[in-house]
Amino acid sequence: MQILDGKLVSGAIKEQLALKVAELKAQGKKTPHLAAILVGNNGASETYVASKVKSCAEIGYNSTLLRFEDTISEKHLLDHINMLNENPDIDGILVQLPLPKHINEELVINTIDPSKDVDGFHPMNVGKMVSGLPAFIPATPYGIMLMLEHYGIDTKGKHAVVIGRSHIVGTPVSILLSRNTNPGNCTVTLCHSHTKNLKELCLQADIVVAAIGRPEFVTGDMVKEGAIVIDVGINRLPDASKKSGFRLAGDVKFDEVAPRCSYITPVPGGVGPMTIAALLKNTYHAAIGQKGNQN
Ligand code: NDP
Repeated sequence: MQILDGKLVSGAIKEQLALKVAELKAQGKKTPHLAAILVGNNGASETYVASKVKSCAEIGYNSTLLRFEDTISEKHLLDHINMLNENPDIDGILVQLPLPKHINEELVINTIDPSKDVDGFHPMNVGKMVSGLPAFIPATPYGIMLMLEHYGIDTKGKHAVVIGRSHIVGTPVSILLSRNTNPGNCTVTLCHSHTKNLKELCLQADIVVAAIGRPEFVTGDMVKEGAIVIDVGINRLPDASKKSGFRLAGDVKFDEVAPRCSYITPVPGGVGPMTIAALLKNTYHAAIGQKGNQN
């Protein structure tokens, strides 16, 4: 069994990007600039945004963090997005989700200029991705593809079972894995809460992608010998022994599943860091005027 080390791979991607940014600067070209919007005080969202901003600084990007109280009106938020859309110094815009209930997430996403939509959630980018056209691919699915590519994992002809059909993870992963690309060319089964024979399907899978949001949901008896397991889940479980008061758990019961796998991502240190690396890649492409990239 080999661990798919997201920290290592994202570190390598960040190093490459840092070199490219240094080149841009040496040529007198624009420094990539990411704007992040954080609404409210959700602990997990604060952590994610902080590490995105920190990663920008590490590789020489500029970043701007706009923080708002969770009482901000929808109109005020949309006005700020429009200002970022019009600001030529801003290359990428991300709005950390989830947003407070009184704000229409769809409207917010649709307001972001598709050419600055480095999270790849705008319908224009989603449509292009589905059509196999250059597009900003959502960061987590893109990060998973970069990880498979880095380890040279042959996915062609394999049966991938994706558990979870969210717009940000499960559905785009299913599309990317089924495309005629490398990695890709899988036969994909997309599962969700209404799937009846989930265990049976998982046992047929050469690749399992777990994006459910339920701690340790995928157990050893659901995974066949030699499978590749990608654990997207990030769940906070109370743990009095930790200073933070919680520990992180994936959607996969690692201790049971890992011994059966050929490859597996750990939590933390697997898909999480890859998501940030993918976001940084998207931002670089936005900055150099490539309207998205093709994975
Ligand atoms: P969502 O809650 O949006 O989607 C969860 C999906 O899981 C839904 O499609 C749901 O089905 C399905 N599901 C729920 N229960 C079951 C079940 N019993 N059997 C089968 N399917 C089920 O979650 P996200 O996609 O946003 O996130 C998933 C996980 O990934 C979370 O832990 C999240 O924190 C993590 N995450 C990690 C990221 C990273 O960078 N590593 C980035 C983004 C998310 P249905 O559609 O029928 O409701």
